[in-house]
Amino acid sequence: MEINPYKMAIKQVEIVAKEMGLDPNSVEALKRIERALIVSIPVMMDDGKLQIFEGYRVHHNTVRGPGKGGVRFSPDVNIDEVRALAMWMTWKTAILDLPLGGAKGGICVDPKKLSRRELERLTRRYTTEIINIIGPDIDIPAPDMNTDGQTMAWMMDSYSMQKGRTVPGVVTGKPVEIGGSVGRQGATGTGMFFVLEELCKREKLDLKSMSVVIQGFGKVGSVISKKLYDLGCKILAIQELEGTIFSEKGLNVNKVLEWRDQGNMLKDFRDQDAKSIPNEDLFAIRCDILIPTAMENQITRENADNIDCKIILEGANGPTTTDADVILNKKGIIIVPDILANSGGVCVSYFEYIQDIHAYYWKLDRIHSELKNILLEAFERVYEISKQRHLSLRTAAYIIAVSRVARAIEFRGIFP
Ligand code: GLU
Repeated sequence: MEINPYKMAIKQVEIVAKEMGLDPNSVEALKRIERALIVSIPVMMDDGKLQIFEGYRVHHNTVRGPGKGGVRFSPDVNIDEVRALAMWMTWKTAILDLPLGGAKGGICVDPKKLSRRELERLTRRYTTEIINIIGPDIDIPAPDMNTDGQTMAWMMDSYSMQKGRTVPGVVTGKPVEIGGSVGRQGATGTGMFFVLEELCKREKLDLKSMSVVIQGFGKVGSVISKKLYDLGCKILAIQELEGTIFSEKGLNVNKVLEWRDQGNMLKDFRDQDAKSIPNEDLFAIRCDILIPTAMENQITRENADNIDCKIILEGANGPTTTDADVILNKKGIIIVPDILANSGGVCVSYFEYIQDIHAYYWKLDRIHSELKNILLEAFERVYEISKQRHLSLRTAAYIIAVSRVARAIEFRGIFP
């Protein structure tokens, strides 16, 4: 069943607006996106043929500050997905109380099918097509699915070349050599770990003795897997698109990382009792913590009933549909919502942006301690509200985020 992520994002706002008794005018404003740009990106391919790709950049809300959010390259990207992701960025920056709004971008492309030179031309032309709606005080892109430091370096260079000066603060997630921040690469996974540790402390659960199942082994999944493995958790299964590995005794994540770094697929990994299982069996594995880090709409009405865990830590954006959320809440599973769980990435992006603007760079221990402070403060508020009002962490998180944005709209008023 196809689930439209934008409709889902709107539904989430409606649920929380009802809970909060939010003014209907504000609800209307929050459900809409401010602006969306759809561009055609012509790329001369290596074989001399011209291919035209479709690209997007969406600002959901910039009332609290410039737009912020990643750019994804994926054959499935479409405008509604980008609208939803932009909206989730608004809540994510608001929950951390960063002076930023929500934005997102993407190009409909399978980057695996392009050469490095073609990818560079695609990225540079995309940047040029959206140049009027990005900038350090307008909207600051960052990496997301299938984009990385190199992508950001090309974007920063293309923007800077056309402005006639180096503008590092136009994107975050850059290599440190050109104004990137230390600690940005692993920031999402590091932040997830801080939040999970705190949740376990509050719930009196012994994190290091828990078993874990992880969907996705990219920038986020690999970092959180390694952190939990190092702590002593039993990593029962890891999934990537091409296949899933499972071990009753627990996977040796160091060996899995080594295997992946040699260019192998996870499904071919063999070690002790590690074996390959069908992808669709992943969510039915009994575990303590389930961590989706892949993409939206993975936990649905169809598979939520089979899920048997204590905690779901949402590393991906929008991995759980609203229908599945209801089922999981009824089962008593604690879901740490995406806008809180994976907000470490945008938090360190914010630090990178500040460092670029001040032209003064921080050390890793400062990044980690400020990240931890901001995340735990946000977690604390969410946790308190959820306990006080008997709400899920998601609803509590949305109440905080949505009311911050709504109050900003109220103070600023409607122009003219
Ligand atoms: N793409 C990441 C996210 O979804 C990071 C965004 C950013 O750093 O701006 O949160």
